Amino acid sequence: MFPDLGWRPEPIRFAVPGQTGAVTVRAAVVAALRDAGGLLLPQECAVCSRTGVACCVGCRPELQTLVRTVHGLAVHSGAVWDERTAAILRGLKEDGRTGLARVLSPALGAALRRAAAGQRVAVVPIPTGAAAFRRRGYRVPDLLLGRLGVPAVRLPASS
Ligand SMILES: [Zn+2]
Repeated sequence: MFPDLGWRPEPIRFAVPGQTGAVTVRAAVVAALRDAGGLLLPQECAVCSRTGVACCVGCRPELQTLVRTVHGLAVHSGAVWDERTAAILRGLKEDGRTGLARVLSPALGAALRRAAAGQRVAVVPIPTGAAAFRRRGYRVPDLLLGRLGVPAVRLPASS
């Protein structure tokens, strides 16, 4: 047989509308099927299950910029963390409901504006785990930041 020269094919990557960065073919197919499913299956509110909407107006998170100091660092948030916010985030992260990024991105935008205070800032999301990315086919921070037109900055892995 042939000797193993250590070469492994790189996954084919390309751009998908609404997502920043290149994604694998598998992730693009998952996103396309999800979009197609949204046309065929009725939506329901991620919080109260009312049909016809991804999240009803009354179930949207309460936007409020909050600043707390944790271990000497200012931590900014843009929404009150409650059952509604948790249900929406769970739908976005675990149920593949990427449309919920539209509901949560205003909270992130408010927190970023407050944190930046008019200065240029770089947003460095905590990296999505490889297993979570394979399962979801998307990165939640990229979806949220993409809706705001803010690029996610990736830092090189430290050695
Ligand atoms: Zn609702």
